[in-house]
Amino acid sequence: MKESQIIAELERIVGKENVASKDDELLVYECDAVAIHKTKPLAVILPKTTAEVAAVVRLLHQERIPFGPRGAGTGLSSGALPLGCEDGQRSVLIEMARMNRILEIDYANHRATVQPGLINVRLTQAVAAAGFHYAPDPSSQTSCTIGGNVAENAGGPHCLKYGSTTNHILGLEVVLPTGEVVMLGGSGVDSIGYDLLGAFVGSEGTFGIATSVVVRLTRTPQSVITLLADFEDLNDASVAVSSIIAAGILPAALEMIDQVTINAVEDSVLAAGYPRDVAACLIVELDGLEAGLDSLARQVVEICTGHRARSVRQARDESERKKLWAGRKGAFGALGRVSPDLFVQDAVVPRTKLPEVLAGIYAIGAKYRLKMSTVFHAGDGNLHPNLNFDGRDKDEVARVLQAGKEIMQLCVDAGGSITGEHGVGSDKIDYMPMIFDQASLDKMLTVKEVFNPLGLCNPGKAVPSGRMCREYRKGFNFEAA
Ligand SMILES: Cc1cc2nc3c(=O)[nH]c(=O)nc-3n(C[C@H](O)[C@H](O)[C@H](O)COP(=O)(O)OP(=O)(O)OC[C@H]3O[C@@H](n4cnc5c(N)ncnc54)[C@H](O)[C@@H]3O)c2cc1C
Repeated sequence: MKESQIIAELERIVGKENVASKDDELLVYECDAVAIHKTKPLAVILPKTTAEVAAVVRLLHQERIPFGPRGAGTGLSSGALPLGCEDGQRSVLIEMARMNRILEIDYANHRATVQPGLINVRLTQAVAAAGFHYAPDPSSQTSCTIGGNVAENAGGPHCLKYGSTTNHILGLEVVLPTGEVVMLGGSGVDSIGYDLLGAFVGSEGTFGIATSVVVRLTRTPQSVITLLADFEDLNDASVAVSSIIAAGILPAALEMIDQVTINAVEDSVLAAGYPRDVAACLIVELDGLEAGLDSLARQVVEICTGHRARSVRQARDESERKKLWAGRKGAFGALGRVSPDLFVQDAVVPRTKLPEVLAGIYAIGAKYRLKMSTVFHAGDGNLHPNLNFDGRDKDEVARVLQAGKEIMQLCVDAGGSITGEHGVGSDKIDYMPMIFDQASLDKMLTVKEVFNPLGLCNPGKAVPSGRMCREYRKGFNFEAA
């Protein structure tokens, strides 16, 4: 079929009003939140039902057209970048935004069933009055979707205590890359057979499209204490992080914000009252039963003071607590005040390596003459070194990419990894060999082939295969599949 015929068929399946294929309509879909990598899709479709997704995928599979799911496009690894095939065939984006309903809330069993396009925070808003919340809370939670969270195994500040997305997904309905519809997992606490649900979560859109998600609901804790500790020396703040965890305290969240970020936030509408003149602040949140929480907070204050915190203050009420969090969660946006573009990096290192790795990261920034900032989930060693730049300056863009690569190598050399929560996508696909040998990568590709035999579903993401779209094992008959 010609491209125009494909578009006509897509319009027939989902309705003309749910297909975008004009050049100007496609502009907003040419990248996710990594604006450094851009490519235009052939078309974007916005299905409303699982049946529509399955019919679209069957058509694209039959016509050998690459395609990929997209949630809200807040991804930070170019996971929803609509890459085409090596022969120039452009891909179709399947944007899940219109499948955004909460289908069922089952308080008695602490679970809910939602469509994948539901914005993360909407679920917590819907269940808050009943004393529940949805625990994974990426800083982008006011815009990212549950489907995108599943694909990336998203984290968030409170995942330190509550665990990342994979710990909160009980079941999935999935349209496989061939168009079949399967159920993975179930609504129980354990499922029989291979853990295909576990394999799907974090598969970055390469194993198919989640069309319905059963999630775990978490009881909202009885009491919460939020502390802001400020340090004149970044090293002291880093050592305080390890010391809090080493003391056997598991905060709900333990975040670090450096001086550049503090000032960007304080200059913005999100001004939270962070002290501008310190090297770094820690936000430490403790939650649980009211009894004993004050004494835990006193322990945290002592540890921070013992590591030369200039002051440690406690949020007086819910409104002050919300302000502290709004500043932290809106920090990437506020960094728009520092430069027109931002390259948010993501890596994880052992907590005890934070001081040396942070020093190394700032040194790399200086070497490449880049403005650097960091704001991150310090409690689990999940760093977000941010490279501020101007995308119109090609030389600066090249320096950003080179610095990004060196930062990844630095983190790997420190015993860490190239991503803590944002995924590999296509942005970091070339870095996978920093972590895995070829035999391990081959095994991952073998698993991918089981779900995605023709490699048409989100090509060029997560695991390097060398050949776009035709990522089949040796001897596989592409034409006959
Ligand atoms: C300001 C900001 C703060 C952020 N903070 C955090 C944070 O604290 N923690 C964190 O983990 N991430 C964070 N992120 C990154 C991002 O928000 C997450 O990765 C999020 O999970 C992406 O969701 P999305 O709906 O935008 O997905 P997209 O960006 O649209 O897609 C991401 C991936 O999911 C796949 N996908 C989307 N929907 C489906 C589906 N239904 N089925 C299968 N695959 C699908 C896509 O193909 C792609 O590979 C942040 C991003 C920004 C811009």
